[in-house]
Amino acid sequence: MPESELEAVLTQARRFLEQQKRMYGTTMYLQQKLSDDTLPAAPSVRSTAPVAAPSKSAPAPVPAPAATRAAERPAGPKEPWHDAADMKQLNAKICNCLKCSLGKMRTKFVFGVGNTNADLMVIGEAPGADEDAQGEPFVGRAGQLLNKILEAVNFKREEVYIANILKCRPPENRRPHPDEVEQCEPYLWKQIELVKPKFILCLGLTAAQTLLKTEESLTSLRASVHNYHGVPTYVTYHPAALLRNPNWKRPTWEDVQKLRKAYDAAINNN
Ligand code: SF4
Repeated sequence: MPESELEAVLTQARRFLEQQKRMYGTTMYLQQKLSDDTLPAAPSVRSTAPVAAPSKSAPAPVPAPAATRAAERPAGPKEPWHDAADMKQLNAKICNCLKCSLGKMRTKFVFGVGNTNADLMVIGEAPGADEDAQGEPFVGRAGQLLNKILEAVNFKREEVYIANILKCRPPENRRPHPDEVEQCEPYLWKQIELVKPKFILCLGLTAAQTLLKTEESLTSLRASVHNYHGVPTYVTYHPAALLRNPNWKRPTWEDVQKLRKAYDAAINNN
């Protein structure tokens, strides 16, 4: 084989391995086997803070982003949307956002959809082509699969609230860039503050790593329940990944079953 072809093959192989490492870390086999074969009855909680599923009438379960995440907010003066009293107001105040370069490329701003008083909030990465065209998160094939995943554990799409880390579509569905996340994620914090969910489900590595501020692999993140400012937070595969690899459907179903079990326990206690 000519040296140039060999180099091209090696480059492709290196890229593939880096992608796999980003998704699964370096201990994919062992951790995947653990989660498949020895699913704990009650998953461990990855935080020293208590994870009690709060009721809507209890003190605010999600501390206001302005107070708790000030260090992660973009520097600068207070912005009008910070004071939005509800989702309608928030949407109206941010829907023309051009803070990052994705704003100029979007067809539609993808704010979020669902029950604004939901007990479960589902968070994905960013709009894709279908979402960009329709202005709604998780439509198209991945959206239909998400609906089926939710239905499998007795959630209706309209009873949860669904949003993404980014509100505008990255070109070619690439991963969000750090500067885009920095500009856009505060909108999601505000949405969480308004919904006050009792549970959060992160779909995919990017959503989980971004929200939880961690570099852990998806396998590692799936193995635990996380504490997002007092809200029990679960992690599973992104539906688009399941379309590419149906073998991940079973572990996804197991993840959402764990979530449903904890959700039911919390509801029954209130
Ligand atoms: S991705 Fe977010 S920060 Fe960037 S333009 Fe869209 S709404 Fe604004």
